[in-house]
Amino acid sequence: MTAIRPLVAGNWKMNGLGSALAELVTLRQVLAEKPVPEADVMVCPPATLLTRAAEVLEGSNIALGAQDCHPLPSGPHTGDVSAEMLADAGATAVIVGHSERRLDHGESDALVNAKARAAYRADLTAIICIGETQAQHQDGGTLDVLKRQVQGSVPEEARAMNTIIAYEPVWAIGSGLTPTPADVARLQGAIRENLRQLLGETEGRAMRILYGGSVKPANAAELLFVPNVNGALVGGASLKGLDFYEILSAYRDPEAT
Ligand code: PEP
Repeated sequence: MTAIRPLVAGNWKMNGLGSALAELVTLRQVLAEKPVPEADVMVCPPATLLTRAAEVLEGSNIALGAQDCHPLPSGPHTGDVSAEMLADAGATAVIVGHSERRLDHGESDALVNAKARAAYRADLTAIICIGETQAQHQDGGTLDVLKRQVQGSVPEEARAMNTIIAYEPVWAIGSGLTPTPADVARLQGAIRENLRQLLGETEGRAMRILYGGSVKPANAAELLFVPNVNGALVGGASLKGLDFYEILSAYRDPEAT
């Protein structure tokens, strides 16, 4: 079986005015000087910056993603943005089901599933986030939560080429806390098993599963080489081009100049 190519994706969340595009310029420059051919890279700025970010990234190998979409292509949904609109603005992927949306906006697995299908309809890759809350973690319910979220949020038509799973323990997001590498291995392995059951052997084995939650330059090497971790979804540390590059460069061949 061919190895899964890792992806490091940056989620800027509700951060970034036009001036933040300078961080993308920095990232592009440092990647041109010291490439990391071992991994793919993506940045997901807020929707307001997508068009300008697409211009900054044009001709680079930094992919552009968005952070959420409405399930429908258009219509009377004030303030919402459709997957088609994101594609039109230059995105090739969209995050759906981030825990901040599940908690702030009460998004259910069924809605996340519909959003992932909207992404496919617009030819976008769906980055589907799952993860247990602090209370679920403490109750020992993590495996059940992850299984339920995979079954509910991942469409049956999901394929490894159009879907990426991001496992993000809610209690690890923005907290500086991370699970131990052994726990990450155990939980990402369980997610892999859930995907195999849902999608079959071929797709379940080939789908990328990212880890997210307080990944930073100092812990990237210890978290990214855990079995069944095929990259990272990075929040806070993706806002600075050089920090984000440092995380990505965990994959860089140490012999490279
Ligand atoms: C995220 O919210 O997707 C995330 C991983 O955030 P942070 O890296 O800041 O914990």
